[in-house]
Amino acid sequence: MRLNCIPQDLRIALACVGNVGRHTMHSSYREDIASLASEEMFEFFATFARFEYAMKRAKFLEDSRTKKQKKDGDTAEVNARANWNTFATLVDKSLLSTVKKCSVCKVLIEDPAKRHRVTISGEKNFDTLQWQDADAPQSVNDLFLQVRRIRNSLFHGEKSVHSNRDAELVRAGLHFLDHVWEAIHDSDSFTEFVDAFDYL
Ligand SMILES: [Zn+2]
Repeated sequence: MRLNCIPQDLRIALACVGNVGRHTMHSSYREDIASLASEEMFEFFATFARFEYAMKRAKFLEDSRTKKQKKDGDTAEVNARANWNTFATLVDKSLLSTVKKCSVCKVLIEDPAKRHRVTISGEKNFDTLQWQDADAPQSVNDLFLQVRRIRNSLFHGEKSVHSNRDAELVRAGLHFLDHVWEAIHDSDSFTEFVDAFDYL
């Protein structure tokens, strides 16, 4: 131990420890993750996040009050959550056929992102975590569900699912959001959303 490192009080002790260990948070455990992420994935994440943010600003929000609060018309403070369902119902239904015809997006219909399922029994016995095939989207709402699933399932780290598959789904998800923008940007129902999206 160096002479100037004698721990006379806690502050000095921390400073001494700091010479060897302070600010050395572990990050090596995640070093391979960045190499998995492409620029397109970042663009997808960021665009998706901006969609949700603009949806909240434009009052496409979940009513997350309890059943009783809703029934009684109570005022309650809850987490702000984007409501994709109400958003989807206002999007022109022709979006589904546009997606079916698009060579980039058709994977969303023909081979949609799988669902991550778990079987639960008795007193919280979590069992049989598995990927399950999803039904082909039948509506615009189903397509939005797909995009959320893609966002949630990225980087899951299961070797059996090839990363090319992730890239294909991300590309389709991003392209789908572009179709959505194309379909709504001139619509009166989405003026507030479009303004909120473009907040820069
Ligand atoms: Zn497309």
